[in-house]
Amino acid sequence: METSLNAARRARDLDDARREVADLLVVGLGATGAGVALDAAARGLSVVAIDAHDLAFGTSRWSSKLIHGGLRYLASGQIGLARESAAERHVLIRHTAPHLVKAQPYLLPLTPGVPAATARKLMTGYRLGDLLRAAAGTPRKLIPGPARLGAAEALDLVPALAADGLRGALRSYDGRVVDDARLVVALARTAAGHGARVLTRCRALGLAGDGAEVRDELTGDVFTVRARAVVNATGVWAGLLAPEITLRPSRGTHLVLREGVLGPLRAGLHVPIPGESSRFLLVLPQSDGHVLVGLTDEPVEGPVHDVAEAPEGDVEFLLATLNGVLGVPVTRDQVAGAHAGLRPLLDTGSGQGTADLSRRHAVLRGADGVVTVVGGKLTTYRRMAEDAVDAACPQARRSTTARLPLVGAATRGIRAPWRLVERYGAEAEDITALIESNRALGAKVLPGEPTTWAELLWAVRHEGALDEDDLLDRRTRIGLIPEDRQMALKVARHVLSLQP
Ligand SMILES: Cc1cc2nc3c(=O)[nH]c(=O)nc-3n(C[C@H](O)[C@H](O)[C@H](O)COP(=O)(O)OP(=O)(O)OC[C@H]3O[C@@H](n4cnc5c(N)ncnc54)[C@H](O)[C@@H]3O)c2cc1C
Repeated sequence: METSLNAARRARDLDDARREVADLLVVGLGATGAGVALDAAARGLSVVAIDAHDLAFGTSRWSSKLIHGGLRYLASGQIGLARESAAERHVLIRHTAPHLVKAQPYLLPLTPGVPAATARKLMTGYRLGDLLRAAAGTPRKLIPGPARLGAAEALDLVPALAADGLRGALRSYDGRVVDDARLVVALARTAAGHGARVLTRCRALGLAGDGAEVRDELTGDVFTVRARAVVNATGVWAGLLAPEITLRPSRGTHLVLREGVLGPLRAGLHVPIPGESSRFLLVLPQSDGHVLVGLTDEPVEGPVHDVAEAPEGDVEFLLATLNGVLGVPVTRDQVAGAHAGLRPLLDTGSGQGTADLSRRHAVLRGADGVVTVVGGKLTTYRRMAEDAVDAACPQARRSTTARLPLVGAATRGIRAPWRLVERYGAEAEDITALIESNRALGAKVLPGEPTTWAELLWAVRHEGALDEDDLLDRRTRIGLIPEDRQMALKVARHVLSLQP
């Protein structure tokens, strides 16, 4: 398949990248860089795109997986940003990734801590969010409108809520991507389908306007990649390659709860954080049954590590806020995992707290001609990518990505289990065919976890997974629970040893 990424293609593309002069070199393969690679390749440019680690190694895999309709930006008066977010949600849910992006309902429980006047204000906000939806052209059947529910209905959707004093709930909908890392993989593969050379384990040691010094992290080889333009899309690490840029990273921690800990969940939750006017704890049910609970917003000082730690203080804060609305509290030992990601926020020199820094993206050109694209959100990656390519390659034709389906994009007429369809779209049939050709591949990687051996093999053959970390931490999310990750390692290693 033209969209397949694997070790053999990496070797070929690496050879070519060392010999040729590309139109564009993209550094960083999170949502932003993979989006830039796709935007440029789809405009007909020759593209080399590299990541020091793996697709979605950085912040992009630690998100809350919300595809925002822009409501939170309205609250802070950033109307342009709110509209951009709603427009990009529309592109994803309607045109480019309808298999990966769906509507998710949320309840905001009306507890004694939420006075009637606050509830009215919050409902007005949800209604404004619904206006943004309408302005973006998204029909209500894709993102339903808000409603006020009675206590019985709220408890029916989320029985774990404390019934005592509950007056009801505000129900709203927003977009959700089934897996942020899978979105990045889909972007990178779609770019590869348009001819981009997508190279993981290739670290840029230094950038110039006409290329980069690159180290192959698998062999230690250092070589030059030459290009007519260079985009730095390295997120929180952008300042290391473009010293004129200063970032103020902010840590967001999520807890992972196993399925069933909160009982049946037919909606997520928005829980107002006591003492804060527009911050909410999010309870985010995942399609694999796990539940994420997030999220903090804490400034991080000092060097940015490859993977951020989730400190115990964050875990305690999230648990205490969650327990404030539950009938039966969740205990610390029921927290199966915790992870943190760093928001790549630009330091504007305003001295604001990180929660107040704008989530708008920036495209900046350095004195050496390197274009850095930073900030923004997962939701707006496509717009960021378009702006970055416009800046780096002004002669290129116009972006086409607003209507360009990502690999697998489809939801109807696919003969495969729904769980596979929402991860793989049309390619779910290929996974099913793999299992039909060899029943052993239908075995589960772990008891009680739905991922099959076939999905791991597919990731090695077509999704660029090179080792067990890629398989467990990014192509699947088994690694979100350390205990499960440990148990799955043996199968992952075995699958990697199978012939391609
Ligand atoms: C906790 C949290 C929750 C969030 N939730 C949401 C949400 O629900 N919805 C939403 O829209 N947004 C959300 N965001 C924001 C969103 O996740 C980020 O804005 C986005 O993922 C940033 O993507 P990126 O590609 O710019 O950076 P990254 O994903 O960090 O990618 C940068 C890449 O650059 C690579 N790299 C670094 N240095 C080099 C080098 N020298 N050479 C080669 N490669 C290099 C890294 O390995 C990495 O893969 C959240 C952010 C956080 C932290």
